Amino acid sequence: MIKQSVSEVVPPNHEKTPHIEQDCIQSYNPATGEIIGQVSTTSPADAPLIMNELAQGQTNWGNVDIKERISILHRLYELMVERHPALVKLLGQELGKIEHEARFEVLQAILNLKYMLWKAPRALKSKRVFVWQLPYRMHKILRQPHGVVLVISPWNFPVALTFDAIIPALLAGNSVAYKPSEHAPLIGQFMADLIVEAGVPEDVFKIIHGDGALGAALIDAGPDKISFTGSVPVGRKIAQKAGDLLIPVTLELGGKDAALVLVDADLKRSARGILWGSMVNSGQMCLGVERVYVMDSVADQFVQELRQAVRKYLRVGESDDPQATLGLLALSSQADIVRAQVNQAEEFGATLYRDYQALGKLKQHPNLIEPLILTDVPPEADIVRAETFGPVMVVMPVTNEDEAIQKINDSEFGLTTSIWTKDSKNVQRLAPRLKVGLVHMNEHILSSAAPQVPWGGRKQSGYGRHRGADSFLAMTIPQAVSTEWFKLPFHPFAYPYNRFKRDLVRRLVYLWAGPTLKDKLKAFGRLK
Ligand code: NAD
Repeated sequence: MIKQSVSEVVPPNHEKTPHIEQDCIQSYNPATGEIIGQVSTTSPADAPLIMNELAQGQTNWGNVDIKERISILHRLYELMVERHPALVKLLGQELGKIEHEARFEVLQAILNLKYMLWKAPRALKSKRVFVWQLPYRMHKILRQPHGVVLVISPWNFPVALTFDAIIPALLAGNSVAYKPSEHAPLIGQFMADLIVEAGVPEDVFKIIHGDGALGAALIDAGPDKISFTGSVPVGRKIAQKAGDLLIPVTLELGGKDAALVLVDADLKRSARGILWGSMVNSGQMCLGVERVYVMDSVADQFVQELRQAVRKYLRVGESDDPQATLGLLALSSQADIVRAQVNQAEEFGATLYRDYQALGKLKQHPNLIEPLILTDVPPEADIVRAETFGPVMVVMPVTNEDEAIQKINDSEFGLTTSIWTKDSKNVQRLAPRLKVGLVHMNEHILSSAAPQVPWGGRKQSGYGRHRGADSFLAMTIPQAVSTEWFKLPFHPFAYPYNRFKRDLVRRLVYLWAGPTLKDKLKAFGRLK
């Protein structure tokens, strides 16, 4: 055990991000501080104009044949594969992602795009329903676009998460106002340029750069649907505004994911898997493992395996260092939050394990958060309750499954939980008791990235779903169209009301709604 304050390695007065000037955002490399590019911002006052233009563009786009929309976005798919090396590089430069993880994010985005191109014709196809009570009428359910969809994105997975919303929105015939994070403007611009180059008309898709004030103005301008991915406090503000304006909204918010290690788990494999689930993207993940509940009898051994895995696998370095398995945090402000939680846990008497290797001279960098394993942390500590969003996990012993489930659910968040065990029956049994959107066995990340699996949380982690067929449900409204197969000689229920119709409805209550055959037969007898 090594005990020392992480704050010792932090130089004071480090810079905050981003550099927002009056009409531009300068983006810089978090590792070097070097300016790597800039984008023009839009004034919040222009938001109504933008929404108007997109609304007009949508009327044509919504009528374009689905095959045509698919063919345009198929071109985007080809462009993404062709240009992905540049995007991978930019993810490293703008956010400090290590190359392997940046490429994994891009792969996820491309696979998701490919899946949605395949899924769209079936998911968006109108469906007939037979209404047995009205056999002379035909009912079709169309999937209609909302109109203008406002997509507001975070910085941590700016490629994959943004495609989750934009692609199904466009395929479904919506136009899209896309506001990327002010912390990842160049990546946002890169993808927007590809979307336009692929052939999506400029009055159907627009990127709008700016900070939260612009995001708020875009909502005030009245989009027809909002797809927001980001933090809980901002999500709450957006839900309030959307509630006032009655705009439907999908919210993908923060998390405090747990892993549960059962007594029969393969501890070496669990330690390695949980470590990856916690440290990938330097822990800057809504679904990063931040709490580990482990059965008492195997807790010490599990911590030893975990420390062993840290020693073996965690090498902190710059994004372009091929030796690095963990990069810097993208934002110094985020690093401050992580540090504050770790320091508070230390004050509560936590034990800190820092077994990683540091590559080169990164020790003094303000965005460096040492990957840490913490034990002996009381449940009231922020690091157990609040989102951390850094490469830090807390390991806590539990005595039985009931206690574990109670503690996992005792969180305001509800994204995912992984259960580590040799027996899938344990997972089938415990999953329904967990108040989360996804339960994994012996894994924490991959199913969450799978294009076919609906993604989203419960409680403060948000509502609505991305990916799978749910993406298209989120980006469309069902519209029922009821037409006539043939005309009845008279309307059985409407004016003029007469004895015959009143009698008919009295009998139908028994015939159609009667729970037993005996009840139904009453329809043919004498009614009292
Ligand atoms: P954030 O909430 O600070 O910002 C997200 C976006 O909202 C940015 O584009 C920002 O400019 C915009 N914004 C800020 N204030 C706004 C306002 N008042 N009105 C409209 N827009 C506004 O989040 P972040 O720091 O970019 O991202 C990190 C957070 O996102 C974490 O909490 C993380 O858990 C969460 N996240 C969730 C998921 C998920 O799928 N559930 C995925 C990734 C990230």
